[in-house]
Amino acid sequence: MNENKEKGYGEEIQFTRSSVVVFFIFLFHIFRGFASGRGFKQRPPGAGGNHRKSEVDSYIAEASFLSKCIRCGQCGVVCPTQERGEETAKAIQFCKSGFDQGTPYIEPRKAACIMCVDKPCVVACPTDALDLGKLDIEQSIMGTAEIVSPKGCLAIQGLRCEVCYNRCPLIGDAIKLEKRVNRRTKVHIIYEPVVDSDVCTGCGICEQVCIADEAVIKVRQYYPPFKDPDFYKFKGSS
Ligand code: SF4
Ligand code: SF4
Ligand code: SF4
Repeated sequence: MNENKEKGYGEEIQFTRSSVVVFFIFLFHIFRGFASGRGFKQRPPGAGGNHRKSEVDSYIAEASFLSKCIRCGQCGVVCPTQERGEETAKAIQFCKSGFDQGTPYIEPRKAACIMCVDKPCVVACPTDALDLGKLDIEQSIMGTAEIVSPKGCLAIQGLRCEVCYNRCPLIGDAIKLEKRVNRRTKVHIIYEPVVDSDVCTGCGICEQVCIADEAVIKVRQYYPPFKDPDFYKFKGSS
């Protein structure tokens, strides 16, 4: 009996040590993500639940998602194939190496989430790694878009680009066009795209379609750490 107890105690120690190793790998994963300036990888809708309203929520959601995803690939099977010029692509891709090998992620510049109304990826997930509960896809939080380099945005330069605005599935709500005077000319008007992070799902369509060589609007998997209404606004406009 004592032997059994000792064996059980030994297993517990082993489990604790492996947990510590996993925890530090996870911390490294987080650090690397933030060092790259983009947070974590963008995950499909409902990954780790619908909680990505703060950086802390994002840590918890990512940890929950990684613990529940069994790397079966079912979400990718049902994700619809999109035409991309002469090529085709799916929004869901799978990590090919590293700590999270086999888990699904989205790289919007290649193929964004098109926000399928019937949420096939969430339905196909055999665990609740992707879990939206009863929420509509429009209430999912995959991240939030932000204008990362305002000087590169044609609309902010004074041209009527607005491609991101027009292609956003939540047109007029997730991205609003704010009318401002062009500070440089003092007479012309610019229509600056401004993201409402309370509405944006982080689907990444704006990032995919941005006409700049390198997208000037990108999705972060977490909300901005502070709620400054001028956070997105380009200081060159008024
Ligand atoms: S909602 Fe549709 S496009 Fe988006 S990840 Fe799920 S299956 Fe793919
Ligand atoms: S990520 Fe871009 S396209 Fe998608 S909802 Fe947000 S602003 Fe609209
Ligand atoms: S598509 Fe790109 S360049 Fe055009 S308004 Fe949107 S962010 Fe600016």
